[in-house]
Amino acid sequence: MSALDLALSILQPHDLLLAPHDCYGGSYRLIQGRAERGHFSTLFVDQNNRTALREALALRPRLVLVETPSNPLMRVVDIAAVASMAKKADAKLAVDNTFLSPALQNPLRLGADFVIHSTTKYLNGHSDVVGGALVTADRADGEELAAWASLTGITGSPFDAYLTLRGLRTLFPRIEAQQRSATAIADLLDAHPAVQKVFYPGLARDPGHAIASSQQKGFGAMLSFEAKLGEAGLRTFISSLKLFTLAESLGGVESLIAHPATMTHLGMGQAARATAGISDSLLRLSVGLEETQDLIDDLSEALDAGLAHER
Ligand SMILES: *Cc1c(COP(=O)(O)O)cnc(C)c1O
Repeated sequence: MSALDLALSILQPHDLLLAPHDCYGGSYRLIQGRAERGHFSTLFVDQNNRTALREALALRPRLVLVETPSNPLMRVVDIAAVASMAKKADAKLAVDNTFLSPALQNPLRLGADFVIHSTTKYLNGHSDVVGGALVTADRADGEELAAWASLTGITGSPFDAYLTLRGLRTLFPRIEAQQRSATAIADLLDAHPAVQKVFYPGLARDPGHAIASSQQKGFGAMLSFEAKLGEAGLRTFISSLKLFTLAESLGGVESLIAHPATMTHLGMGQAARATAGISDSLLRLSVGLEETQDLIDDLSEALDAGLAHER
């Protein structure tokens, strides 16, 4: 969040920020909170709606924030297309690359000015550090922001940096193995009677599949799905899971499951959740490094238990 806040620090009260309507709940709250305090003004738009995006860019924003794939609905935004539109409007483009990490997506190569990472997630990868990084395409921007980060004291501690560097060494093999399991899990969920809809750009019929295939090196290990279960069935499903822990955060070696409506995206409020398409039966998975078959068995047994509860 500090890395995002550092990117936001370029904004002045007369500046406009164009943010995604379905971003990470914490990002939404930070942006909303700063805008309410008069630090800048903001507009949340569906960046896949070209007309809405064009109209918003006509308002001459100073900064455009993209999160792709988005949290939790895995919506994919065409970074190169938004970058060229932002450039024409004289706006800077920041991309939150937390869900894929540099192993799977390189927004600077696609025209972004800033890349934001929660290093808490895949970069450290072991769920034992909270940190972030802001990377700039332009060296002068980087120096200016580094000086500001130092002045405000948001830089990480040496021990956290040490742990993050250790974790970073295994980033590529970790995410490759996690992504392999995620693909198998998406197929399982897609075919299960207790599942309404799967959100994973790796699925050929996912609306983000084509763009994800061209701008990403892989589809990653995050996915979400809408369960075809009522509250009782959902509770049984989640409490029957043995390998997926009900918890926020993501990108670590352990598999996690989250219920965005009551956890990560609770603070967004019902109305903003409805606009973003985050329903009460939506669940988000962060696939860890456990054996693929064990994860599949765990999910399918727990889903069966959820269904049985409702019958
Ligand atoms: C978790 C997350 C953040 C915030 O990261 P922290 O390490 O918790 O500060 C920002 N963006 C996305 C997409 C995230 O998933």
